[in-house]
Amino acid sequence: MKSHAHVLSADQVLSIPSCGVQQERKVRIVVRTRLCRHCKRRVPFFRSLFKAVFCNRTHEREYVQNMETLALERLSIAAERLKLAMRQSMGKALADPPGAV
Ligand SMILES: [Zn+2]
Repeated sequence: MKSHAHVLSADQVLSIPSCGVQQERKVRIVVRTRLCRHCKRRVPFFRSLFKAVFCNRTHEREYVQNMETLALERLSIAAERLKLAMRQSMGKALADPPGAV
């Protein structure tokens, strides 16, 4: 005998033709609880439905501002290191001119 698997979506109704009875199929929707990236508290259920990662708009804005500030700090540190490395290589090039052995 051949068996058929049928997957129901949330708004479909399962009907069994042999006995003529209609049954509603309950569908469980699993929503993962998330923690806010800014404050590490639980994201409210309704926002979790839409896969939000912040508990509110204010925390989302603050998180983005913090990340921008952090990125600028890292870039300025990298620029300072690059300047220092260039100065050191320029000083080394002046001390040891090419061809002087
Ligand atoms: Zn938050």
